[in-house]
Amino acid sequence: MKFKSCESSGDFMTNLSKDVTTKICEDVSIKSKSDIVKIKNKFIDEYRRIDEDSQFPSILSEYVKNGRSSKEICKAMIDFLYVNNDLCNNDLIWLIDNIDEESREYLFSKSGKTRDRYYGRNVYLRGLIEFTNYCKRECRYCGINAFNKKANRYRLTMKEIEESCDIGRELGYSTFVLQGGEDPYFNDDRMIEIVSMIKEKCPNSAVTLSIGERSYESYMKLKEVGVDRFLLRHETTNENLYKWLHPLSEFESRKQCLLNLKKLGFQTGAGFMVGLPWYSTVDYVRDLRFIKKLQPEMVGIGPFITHEDTDMHHYKSGDLDTTILMLSLVRLLLPKVLLPATTALATIDENGRKKGLDVGCNVIMPNLSPKTHRKDYSLYKNKKSSGSESAQALDMIKREIEGYGYICNMSRGDSKLTGSYTIKYK
Ligand code: SF4
Repeated sequence: MKFKSCESSGDFMTNLSKDVTTKICEDVSIKSKSDIVKIKNKFIDEYRRIDEDSQFPSILSEYVKNGRSSKEICKAMIDFLYVNNDLCNNDLIWLIDNIDEESREYLFSKSGKTRDRYYGRNVYLRGLIEFTNYCKRECRYCGINAFNKKANRYRLTMKEIEESCDIGRELGYSTFVLQGGEDPYFNDDRMIEIVSMIKEKCPNSAVTLSIGERSYESYMKLKEVGVDRFLLRHETTNENLYKWLHPLSEFESRKQCLLNLKKLGFQTGAGFMVGLPWYSTVDYVRDLRFIKKLQPEMVGIGPFITHEDTDMHHYKSGDLDTTILMLSLVRLLLPKVLLPATTALATIDENGRKKGLDVGCNVIMPNLSPKTHRKDYSLYKNKKSSGSESAQALDMIKREIEGYGYICNMSRGDSKLTGSYTIKYK
């Protein structure tokens, strides 16, 4: 099956906003003027709405009344965010759109300090095992989606997973992140077997799963067998875009899975992609508000990076500056969050990891998978898996992290947020 190309995705297109109309026209060759008017009229109100907001009043309106400069307004907002760990949606939108270079540096210093306050200079290392690249899902951006016939599929055997953990344990890792596509082969029984094996061999280690959407009952079984954490990025809260990116899936079901994970007591990871086509500031603020409300213990944010064998190969990848800005804002909105400097960040810029750490990231996840399969877990173009992205290169990782002024921490590195929040979603 091949999905409809962007050019013919009429339903999605009719739901796009005024702000992005020009961009759409460039990107997907809408020629008719009446089409554009239809898009504007249909979409603008719905698009502008963000259901949730903070309790705090707008700083912007107060400062504008008093005739303050943009720089002064930026500083006031950043100071407020630093102290209160929140800012109303309008102010967030304004800040993202208007922040100047000097104010960005000021923001980054505040988010770095916020990380230091709760976690010190510690950077937690997790051993990542990519154990299957089979996936039943249809995510348009992903190089291992079910419809990419060029993907070289593999599943690690139990023995290979065990050997990867042994190597990790000997190196000193005490969190194992098992990541895979949504592969029906790894049903509950098989996952229970794997997790039990790891817990038996490394009883003090933490196990994190990143294996996608499952039923509440399935999550419950995994929790009972000892899984500590679960990563499930929400990708985007723009429901129309979510539908276009995942034509066979619904954002509501994603959200429900995240709520179930929180309810079951997992340290839960949400997160979004930066630089998706047509993304606007309102979309980013909706994503930030979503995670502020969900209170995940971990947030994974990385740039969208194109993959040559997907429908989205002709779109531009996300950029470093916006990704760094979002990481910094997440740290300030959720001061106790565990925030990885992702491989995607290191892939788009050779200083990406350092820049992520400097704005408040505190986790890295070097790759422990058998080297023979690393290239096959190709979610996006040029994904790094060697050098200091390889878990075996521990000395190199330590040198790099310490060279930036941080401490490599091999402990479990649990979230400081655990158990302290109640979810308010209905
Ligand atoms: S993003 Fe995840 S769920 Fe989607 S196709 Fe890729 S591996 Fe599968």
